[in-house]
Amino acid sequence: MPEKPRVFAVGAHPDDVEFNMAGTLALLVQAGFEPHMMNVARSNLDSNELPEAEITRIRLREAQNAAQVIGAVHHPPLVDDLMIFYEDGLLRQMSAVIREIAPTIVLLPSLNDYMEDHTNTARVVVTACFSRAMRHYRSRPQREPTDQDVYLYHTQPHLNRDGMRLLVVPELYVNITRVIETKRQMLAQHESQRQWLDDTQGLDDYVESMAAASAEVARMSGQAGWEYAEGFRRHSHIGFAPHDHDPLSDVLAEFVTRQPPPHSV
Ligand SMILES: [Zn+2]
Repeated sequence: MPEKPRVFAVGAHPDDVEFNMAGTLALLVQAGFEPHMMNVARSNLDSNELPEAEITRIRLREAQNAAQVIGAVHHPPLVDDLMIFYEDGLLRQMSAVIREIAPTIVLLPSLNDYMEDHTNTARVVVTACFSRAMRHYRSRPQREPTDQDVYLYHTQPHLNRDGMRLLVVPELYVNITRVIETKRQMLAQHESQRQWLDDTQGLDDYVESMAAASAEVARMSGQAGWEYAEGFRRHSHIGFAPHDHDPLSDVLAEFVTRQPPPHSV
């Protein structure tokens, strides 16, 4: 039996993957991929009432529970909230994670988003993938380099807008209507966030807000009959694979529609 291909879905915080990538991840699992999930930050700041150690513990458990919904391997966070920087230490730690998983598809945050933890996560993961095969680059802990091709897909920013409120238009849409209940179930594991997001960001119901954002992406796709969708933009293949392939669209062909990016000629 050939080893399963692996997909790595990574966000800054617990629930970032669930908000923007979980439907696509669930479809990839159905297509035979081994799923890996990670939130880079511990979410130690996600409560103004609970002690820091307690909210950190709760958020870790919620993230593990969400991963369990689709049988994903959950990789523990690396740093505290607001400590995701594009810096040497975190780059080496993320490099170790990438080398351990050796993914062929990576789902990662948008390079434009409302929050710096998100954009910095995207940049750190890009470089960790770029350095996967470099023999002289030492990860922390040290892991053997890997040389598989890897394709990077940036998800939509939170609620489809960047930090300047501009709508971000994906180039690739995945119809997640069939797995929307799985996505809801994964996000609902983050119970501690219901009140917190309501208080701090005015999200009355974070599961419904995810559904609304997914419905907006479905409308942007222009596809009749699509109720919910997730959108992605592909990173350049240079440094990651020899050819400009699109394995996500190949594997999920029946669920995907593509529109050329605006810079196509
Ligand atoms: Zn986040």
